[in-house]
Amino acid sequence: MSDAKRESSLSQEWTPSSWRSKPIKHNVEYKDSTKLDACLNKIKALPSLVSVKEIDELRAQLAKASRGEAFLLQGGDCAESFAGCTSSAIEDKLKIILQMSLVLIWSMRVPVIRVSRLAGQYAKPRSSDTEIVNGKEILTFRGEIINGLAENEREPDPNRLVEAYFHSSASLNYIRTLLSNSFADLKFPHNWDLDWVKSEQVRQEYKDIINKLADSFDFMRTIGAGNQEQSTNSINFYTSHEGLLLNYEEALTRKSNEKKSEKKISDSSIRNNLSFSSQVNLSKVATLPTDNYYNTSAHFLWIGDRTRQLDGAHIEYFRGIRNPIGIKVGPSMESDELIRILDILDPDYEDGRITLISRYGANKIHDILPGHIKAVKSTLHNVVWCCDPCHGNTQSTESGIKTRSIGDITSEIISSIQIHNMLNSKLNGVHLELTGEHVTECIGGSQDLGPVDLTQNYQSFCDPRLNYLQSLDIAFKISKQYGN
Ligand code: PEP
Ligand code: MN
Repeated sequence: MSDAKRESSLSQEWTPSSWRSKPIKHNVEYKDSTKLDACLNKIKALPSLVSVKEIDELRAQLAKASRGEAFLLQGGDCAESFAGCTSSAIEDKLKIILQMSLVLIWSMRVPVIRVSRLAGQYAKPRSSDTEIVNGKEILTFRGEIINGLAENEREPDPNRLVEAYFHSSASLNYIRTLLSNSFADLKFPHNWDLDWVKSEQVRQEYKDIINKLADSFDFMRTIGAGNQEQSTNSINFYTSHEGLLLNYEEALTRKSNEKKSEKKISDSSIRNNLSFSSQVNLSKVATLPTDNYYNTSAHFLWIGDRTRQLDGAHIEYFRGIRNPIGIKVGPSMESDELIRILDILDPDYEDGRITLISRYGANKIHDILPGHIKAVKSTLHNVVWCCDPCHGNTQSTESGIKTRSIGDITSEIISSIQIHNMLNSKLNGVHLELTGEHVTECIGGSQDLGPVDLTQNYQSFCDPRLNYLQSLDIAFKISKQYGN
């Protein structure tokens, strides 16, 4: 699309449904549109899942992260399942995220913002609409909010939208219950489960860190800092998912009573002096609502690498919501395209409004990240730079099992930290696919899992996740990079 055409399309008023007039990728075709409307209307009438106040709070924290004053830890399943909405699975996820965050806080000495891929991560983009199963071509599984994994459940069913709402709501309710009932005390390091660590040396190294952590807690308690009751209740924990299914997201988009604040920076002439900056003066043409609209299905939503087309429905929807938002940035993203996306989604140059979640692959990051950092630096956008070391490092074993190696994952994170430092920038967060359970989906790590071990407990029906110990491995590795 030409710049002029784009300007004119952006000057159209944004509404929660304006995305409907744009080309859309990964759309779902429902056979029964009456049933679809009934389900969406039901969701529209149901209460918000998260509050505007919580979303604003997260936005403020991400603003800090964008300035290097906090670090984002985002993680969870590739795709949640309805059956995975159990007390123990949720406890395990909360536990690993809390424990990782402690290791990071301790080494980095900045607050860690915990954002889970939980309570709504039910939709998946797929590379193909159909697949051959038992010699028959059937629709691909696209996440339980859309269809079922069983061969006879592949037709998209609108009732699943409502089911996803209620499973998200049950998960969130349990998270809130745990956090307000001292679950965060589980963070106390002495009962961390390190028996699975194979190497005596590594186990000792981890134990040393844990002992130092425990000492710090004892010291804090002794001097009366961080009243226990208060620290447990006020622990921050947020939810997120890919905003893929826009009719669901629209149904949970709600207008807040507060009016939109004034733009912080409106003088685009500053930007025109910047070498990389887009020549389209989007801050003048983009017509956003004067009311604040929030997506209340999660605190944070991101646009996937496959649905971030400049003129597409997803960018259109995301530009109008006040939630902090993420953009997956893969190897195919051009620098000027990245700037244009930022100009559309962050016309007011708000610190931390955008989290750029880079996912290139350990062997590509050196070629691509520097250009992206330089491009963003040439603008006034102040983003949260987050590294997703999982999605660019997926591989298949000889027997065809999808996996990722802890070596590649660690290498992409370390490269990211180093490249940012070299360019006088800073990595502000990591985005991981993980679970607190002892699954065998990724290879390597201190447990030393090899390809032959993968079949022991491979549960993911989507991408492979780090297990409990592999997740701790990553936290310890990042911690080492920061000097502790
Ligand atoms: C994901 O985060 O599960 C995903 C599909 O990622 P990406 O959009 O980066 O491929
Ligand atoms: Mn995934």
